[in-house]
Amino acid sequence: MIQPVAVIGAGPFGLSTAAHLRGRGIPVRVFGEPMVSWRDHMPAGMLLKSTPAASSIDAPQRGHTLVDYCEAAGIPRLVTDEDIIPVETFIAYGEWFQQELVPELERVRVVSVDRRTSAGGGFELKLDSGELFTARAVVVATGLSGLAHLPSELAGAAADGPTPKGPVSHSSQHHDLTRYAGKELIVVGAGQSALETAVLAAEAGARVRVVARGRGSVAFGEPPWRQPRLRPESPFGRAWSLWALSYYPHPYRRLPAQVRHHLVRRVLGPLGAWWLRERFESTVRVSEVERVLRADTSDGHPALTVLGHTGRTEHLAADHVIAATGYRVDLAAMDFLGPGLRTRLAVSRGTPKLGVGYVSSVPGLYFTGLPSAASYGPVMRFVCGTEFASPRLAKHLAAAHSAHG
Ligand SMILES: Cc1cc2nc3c(=O)[nH]c(=O)nc-3n(C[C@H](O)[C@H](O)[C@H](O)COP(=O)(O)OP(=O)(O)OC[C@H]3O[C@@H](n4cnc5c(N)ncnc54)[C@H](O)[C@@H]3O)c2cc1C
Repeated sequence: MIQPVAVIGAGPFGLSTAAHLRGRGIPVRVFGEPMVSWRDHMPAGMLLKSTPAASSIDAPQRGHTLVDYCEAAGIPRLVTDEDIIPVETFIAYGEWFQQELVPELERVRVVSVDRRTSAGGGFELKLDSGELFTARAVVVATGLSGLAHLPSELAGAAADGPTPKGPVSHSSQHHDLTRYAGKELIVVGAGQSALETAVLAAEAGARVRVVARGRGSVAFGEPPWRQPRLRPESPFGRAWSLWALSYYPHPYRRLPAQVRHHLVRRVLGPLGAWWLRERFESTVRVSEVERVLRADTSDGHPALTVLGHTGRTEHLAADHVIAATGYRVDLAAMDFLGPGLRTRLAVSRGTPKLGVGYVSSVPGLYFTGLPSAASYGPVMRFVCGTEFASPRLAKHLAAAHSAHG
């Protein structure tokens, strides 16, 4: 019997990879909750920062773009760069994509994956249903799951870990921000997630302050009609760097590690969407500081001690602090990867080193989406990265698959 390929994850990257593998006739088992990061770990009422052209999940056959979904569902078409996609529409699109192209999805968790040491090779997977099975290859597409990053200076006020009911939480723990109506809220961060969380909480009745590191760190992009015409168009705006990173991620792997890690953090990094500026400026206060020194709860409420640009320290108190401090890829946090894999995986700063076709140093073990950004560039942090990643991963896996019978 031919062993299937296991795809772990049912977000945009897992679904797209599974569709491409199925398109090549490769038997596949796909695990995860469809679109769960978008449904449970992003705020209700959020709007996508990516434009409609950059928000399709790649499929091997025509007819499955965001625009195709809108047509099928009778939603007014989202086409131009000025159209803004509500998160609820995008979730429904992902679920439609799954039902159309990955109908056999299994809504269970993979508890562990390890190399099989017995003859025949492959991987042994354990599911939370208790089932054990063998896969020929494994694609890890677990996206944001488990990778929320809480900086150490904020951890002091979160002795029992971040939680919406305690003094400090992470932005990924919020869907409904109305719980902070009438409360004093601090949001730490300057990326789109921080700025939009702040606006949505303020619109729900909270009094909100954004605390951001660095002068001028709270900034917004230009609307499409003000972007320079003489630079090439990319899904993220007009700029040579964005164009190269979007359409030519191949050479990225060959850049020095330091440059790659820097680009992943900085390019397409913290910048609010153009359409958020007005709502933000009318509802949210901002403290741009040199850095946050620590957080504590000594008088019963969370308070940040910050170092200002003048060299003076200041205390900022609130009823709750939300750390919108992003995600860090760290293989150590992927607790389902067994010891037989960990000891063999080549790693650079916590991220797997990937070769051609997204394969890791363990033959048959692939990573796509966020964990592949250190190898293939920042575009892998976004849905449009599926267009580059999924066909290449599926092609590589198919070649290895046929080579092994
Ligand atoms: C606030 C916010 C706003 C964003 N806005 C945009 C945007 O506008 N445009 C854009 O392109 N990108 C945006 N992103 C980035 C976006 O989240 C990612 O591009 C995308 O979700 C990555 O997809 P993924 O499939 O890799 O992972 P995810 O969407 O995170 O999906 C992970 C999947 O893995 C499954 N899983 C995890 N662990 C296991 C396990 N052990 N067993 C089985 N299944 C498991 C989960 O159930 C889930 O199905 C945003 C991110 C955030 C945080």
